[in-house]
Amino acid sequence: MRARSEELKNVSGEHFDLCVIGGGATGAACALDAQLRGIRTVLLEARDFAGATSSAATKIIHGGVRYLEEAIKGADLQEYHVLVRALHERVRMLENAPHLTRKLEFLVPTYHWIDVAYLDVGLKIYDWLAGPGRISPSKYLSHDETVKRMPELNREGLVGSVAYADGQFDDARYNITLVQTFTEAGGNALNHAKVTDFLRDSNGQLAGVVVSDELTHATFSVNANALVNATGPVADSIRQLATPSAHKRMRPSKGAHILLPLDIFPTEDALLIPKTEDGRVLFALPWGGRLLVGTTDEEVTAGTELVVTKEEVGYLLRHLNPYLAHHASPDDIVSGFAGARPLVGSHDAGDTKKLARDDVIEVDPLSGLISIMGGKWTTHRAMAEDTIDRVEESLGRPRTECETRNYVLFGGKDFTDDCWKNLTCRHPISDHTARHLVAKFGKAAQDVVALGSEDRSLSDPIVEGYPAIRAEVIYAVRREMAATIEDVLARRIGLQLYSWRMAVEAAPVVGSLMARELHWSTSATEAAIRNYVEKIHHLLDAAGLSHANAQTN
Ligand SMILES: Cc1cc2nc3c(=O)[nH]c(=O)nc-3n(C[C@H](O)[C@H](O)[C@H](O)COP(=O)(O)OP(=O)(O)OC[C@H]3O[C@@H](n4cnc5c(N)ncnc54)[C@H](O)[C@@H]3O)c2cc1C
Repeated sequence: MRARSEELKNVSGEHFDLCVIGGGATGAACALDAQLRGIRTVLLEARDFAGATSSAATKIIHGGVRYLEEAIKGADLQEYHVLVRALHERVRMLENAPHLTRKLEFLVPTYHWIDVAYLDVGLKIYDWLAGPGRISPSKYLSHDETVKRMPELNREGLVGSVAYADGQFDDARYNITLVQTFTEAGGNALNHAKVTDFLRDSNGQLAGVVVSDELTHATFSVNANALVNATGPVADSIRQLATPSAHKRMRPSKGAHILLPLDIFPTEDALLIPKTEDGRVLFALPWGGRLLVGTTDEEVTAGTELVVTKEEVGYLLRHLNPYLAHHASPDDIVSGFAGARPLVGSHDAGDTKKLARDDVIEVDPLSGLISIMGGKWTTHRAMAEDTIDRVEESLGRPRTECETRNYVLFGGKDFTDDCWKNLTCRHPISDHTARHLVAKFGKAAQDVVALGSEDRSLSDPIVEGYPAIRAEVIYAVRREMAATIEDVLARRIGLQLYSWRMAVEAAPVVGSLMARELHWSTSATEAAIRNYVEKIHHLLDAAGLSHANAQTN
């Protein structure tokens, strides 16, 4: 990626074949697919890349075992289709970004023999549907094998567990890497650039967009022959901006997660809690050195604040604790996050948890706007492939081959699990930092550590106790378009998920490094740090956690 100030000049007032609105997983994947087919593309994101739903996922690459049960029970062909497509896309997602993904085994503990039989049969069907895309076969684990892998599991009445495999990934980094891969392929991308209106030709067809630079509040226009709306849960707002009479289709549903210290439940596997009080499943999985627990499912309206509430904390702990040998309390929580699923409504659906995670492409005949709605992270690539097929039709171009099926993303080429060792040989960094860097940047980690030769202090940690180094802040600004402290701590480095307390502690360091790069004044830097700290305090308040709680984890 180029520096944001440079990219602003490249985009403002320019003409493109395609403008993609929304820089989440779906929009970034559409932009990459189009650019690789030779369609000159610009990607515009109102906040930060991955700034909305795409960094708020449970971070599982999956077909969805819950959807399997629903497909079978309801004899639902649509659910079946969603599941099979996701099972196949799973493998592509793992192979195309080996540095940002890993295979993960999920253990479903069983406390009755009848459950073992039920789960075993269900998961064998899951294996069978995956066919060649199977990661590893599901299996029964005895009581002893189960507690060896999950020593802090509640053993009272435990029979054993059924294990199956899916994948896990770093959602925010995957999203940023999609954008990085897109710009490496020659595309233009801009964050903090909100589409506020459309330009139209004499027939009323869309011919471009009016954009607000959310950092300066300046406006500019971008012309394009085709427009894709990939704005996730808020897709209706762009659809209605194009055609005010368009009826609403989105039914966003909020999901919240909390993170706990991993020593509460030390494991390398994921725990699947098979039945919640509202008939869903819940996960507790190791992620970034923490235990990630989620999620909830509650229909929301546009404008609902997406923060973890005290009630959601209560719900998640109420379901988790029966599975733990030693109960977790709200005081253990280190951080949390919430997002809105971009679900598309159907006539007969009741609860949002019953809505299929399928996607819908709509071409508005009045304006020409192509909206891609719904879907899952796991199917982002396939959704983009279908969308860009429609874009080619709309541009009147012959259909070209999609390139993204086996396209290794930025930093993933020649990646091996032990490539972190090359970094420690050549640079003054710890093993822990080297592993962190390759897990975030893949082979591009070399470019991050190389910044240490410019200024030795850039090899220092941002904050004690977390492996990220100061060079990552500089790299995030110069090469990944980070423009705010939150862009760096929440999505580029991940510290905000690891610990709200540490993120508050890191804010002044990050703020001063960014100020140096972006020529912020002293007062602007102080305001940026203050705003960030206030935001974290607000997250603590909403979750019903004291600020002191943040001092202890
Ligand atoms: C709680 C939860 C857990 C989930 N877990 C999983 C999981 O484990 N595995 C999985 O496969 N899927 C999961 N999902 C689903 C997955 O996260 C989403 O399907 C996916 O991230 C949606 O991506 P998107 O790009 O469509 O939407 P978003 O990520 O929301 O992107 C849309 C973007 O459009 C931007 N935008 C909006 N308006 C404008 C405008 N006017 N101008 C410019 N930009 C604009 C927004 O700022 C936003 O960044 C989960 C979802 C949730 C909520």
